[in-house]
Amino acid sequence: PFGVVLVLHDVTELRRLEVVRRDFVANVSHELRTPLTAIKGYAETLLGSAGDDRETARRFLTVIDRHSERLGRLVDDLLALSDLELGRTPMHMAEVAVGPAVDDVLQIFGDTAVRAGIRVLAQANADVPPILADGDRLRQVMINLVDNAIKYTPRGGQVVLRVRTAGPPRAGMVEVAVSDTGVGIPAQDLPRLTERFFRVDKARSRELGGTGLGLAIVKHIVQAHGGSLEITSALGQGTTVAAYFPVAPQSAAGGVERTA
Ligand code: ADP
Repeated sequence: PFGVVLVLHDVTELRRLEVVRRDFVANVSHELRTPLTAIKGYAETLLGSAGDDRETARRFLTVIDRHSERLGRLVDDLLALSDLELGRTPMHMAEVAVGPAVDDVLQIFGDTAVRAGIRVLAQANADVPPILADGDRLRQVMINLVDNAIKYTPRGGQVVLRVRTAGPPRAGMVEVAVSDTGVGIPAQDLPRLTERFFRVDKARSRELGGTGLGLAIVKHIVQAHGGSLEITSALGQGTTVAAYFPVAPQSAAGGVERTA
């Protein structure tokens, strides 16, 4: 008997991943080169005659300091992201009450909010059940979202950190949402926000010290908890980023029983 076996491999996904990887390497190199070029340029100028003038030297050193901080933030975020992607970030899952975490985050942003001229407030229902989460990661998510909300909201605006039990179709989840009255995001950019290095306004993000990795990190953390992220926005009116975390099992079954 004679036959022919025809094997077809669909390599679309493989090719797509190759492109994503190439783009990522190109983006990382570009992001690292910008502050490096600035640091080298100012250091060289300082080594020349400009270094003799104390006032000029101080000004240039401030720039070098700012760019090295930026480099540090980039490397920190890249490492955090790669650890999350490789599953190397240990998640210490436990029953976590969201209320105290919200209070911690409000405390952290107290001074920043005053400086930015933005009101930051919390709306947390007392009856929200505890969630199954890593408390530190939960705080990291909230910090990232509030930080963004403040960054992209003009003076006089308002940021609300809201926690409530999610209704259908997300029953069994707790919603942790940050809403702002800021610049908003164009509808066509919404699906790309959690891509690494994607920014709506590159110059603005850089100026505010952004790395373009914050939302990618947030998405990974939320997914590692079995949750999801939803972003809605109206240009010029504001943005809401909602993260959904699963309710801790005992609570879902009707209250936690504790024995002395
Ligand atoms: P970045 O470090 O640039 O803030 P992120 O990953 O946190 O990076 O966010 C990606 C981009 O999404 C930002 O550059 C900004 O354009 C947009 N963005 C995020 N949060 C908001 C928000 N609350 N309001 C408006 N734009 C936002």
